[in-house]
Amino acid sequence: MRFAPSPTGLLHIGGLRTALYNYLVARQSGGAFVLRIEDTDRSRFVPEAEAYIRESLQWVGIEPDESPEDPAEHGPYRQSERSARYSEIASRLVSAGHAYLAFDTADEIAALRESGDTPGSVRYDSSTRMRMRNSLSLPPEEVQRLVAADSPHVVRLKVPDDREVVVDDIVRGQISFAADQLDDQILVKSDGYPTYHLANVVDDHDMQISHVIRGEEWLPSTPKHVLLYEMLDWSVPAMAHLPLILSPTGGKLSKRSADKHGIPVFVLDYRDSGFEPEAVLNYLALLGWHPDSDRERFSLDELVRAFSLRRVGSAGVQFDIEKLTWFNEQVLRELSSQRLAEKLAPHIEAAGWTCDRDEMETIVELLRDRISLARDVTSYPEFFRDPEDYDEKAVRKRWKDDSGDLLLNLLERLVAGESWDAPQLESAFESFLAENDIGKGRIMPVMRIALSGRASGPDLFPTLAVLGRETTARRFRSAADQLGAEDASS
Ligand code: GLU
Repeated sequence: MRFAPSPTGLLHIGGLRTALYNYLVARQSGGAFVLRIEDTDRSRFVPEAEAYIRESLQWVGIEPDESPEDPAEHGPYRQSERSARYSEIASRLVSAGHAYLAFDTADEIAALRESGDTPGSVRYDSSTRMRMRNSLSLPPEEVQRLVAADSPHVVRLKVPDDREVVVDDIVRGQISFAADQLDDQILVKSDGYPTYHLANVVDDHDMQISHVIRGEEWLPSTPKHVLLYEMLDWSVPAMAHLPLILSPTGGKLSKRSADKHGIPVFVLDYRDSGFEPEAVLNYLALLGWHPDSDRERFSLDELVRAFSLRRVGSAGVQFDIEKLTWFNEQVLRELSSQRLAEKLAPHIEAAGWTCDRDEMETIVELLRDRISLARDVTSYPEFFRDPEDYDEKAVRKRWKDDSGDLLLNLLERLVAGESWDAPQLESAFESFLAENDIGKGRIMPVMRIALSGRASGPDLFPTLAVLGRETTARRFRSAADQLGAEDASS
């Protein structure tokens, strides 16, 4: 199995799904998972793209196997390093009469396209090739002369005009293409580089790829590939064209439509937004594949066991960021407190806060069910620093004339207790309420405002317990001071 991205930019989330499906089939069948960088289109080549692709695969943990041809060599194949092999095959096709040299200039090609009734509709194919300047239409001496003079030329596939080409697709079944609807595909460009079509077929053969698993957008190219396999007398690998990934409102998930729906489109943007790789893989697996039960949550190992190309649908699938977020929550809930603390730590540091390791494990238990992404920890600054300000709306609604006094009296009661743990704090709090005949609704929001600046937050007593006597006292006093004074003067 292979993942064969073109290094034309950052890796799209849909590309990661293709990589994942290839990886899963490779692991199921005991085959290798090969990374092949299809870098023959030099005009679209982006030098940083390969590193981005490799970092993306590394982040999710589906790294390519060592090269199967040379086990000592790690890392991807690069098509730009295999030019000699493509030239050899191109010559073989020309000698066998399956391909030919074409010398037409860009202007001549443009004129051909415009020569029919509908502008742009005329193809370079069996019906037109003899009107053009190529090794089939020109006398052999002229061809020799042009080649000797280094006249720019391409190599084109001589597509037969009188047959159907059948593609057997695991996802879509048999699809038949009329060969006379295909153009004489360029196989080698005038810069000497092969096109995607030639390089892809040669490599899939040479690398003994058993399954070609790729996006639906490659389906129209597949009959040309099937013809090449036949002409070269090579067996055609199993084919599976994956359904398109659509935006939530339909239409292809482009960068623009994704942005509109708050969906990151490049793989490492998921990492930087705080998504867990396991959640991303789980979600992508289900973006096209239908398990044979209602089960949704799968680890990577479980996916390897359960996945089947036969249960991949052909209809486009809408990307649902909320569903992915749900998977992320599930993954976070399943982590040990130590692992969860490790995940949250970089986000806490990035916010410029610090936290003790031991405290952190208690804090994560308070947050575990309240966060969707690791970075959401930064929505709970109360664990890491004193409030910088107090939410005006909350204060207006909850802070009464006597709130400051109540808070200070309560504090006195709490600090008088022997120990500072959640049950003890809660029982001291309850008796304080009973003695003063006040309801929870009057004091709890006030306590929260003092602790975090807001009227809502995680469980109050465990929070007080983690914060400790000193911090609680400091924040209660400071709120009573600032808000009490404000109120008195207004
Ligand atoms: N280089 C193609 C791409 O960028 C690969 C298509 C294929 O897998 O054959 O997606």
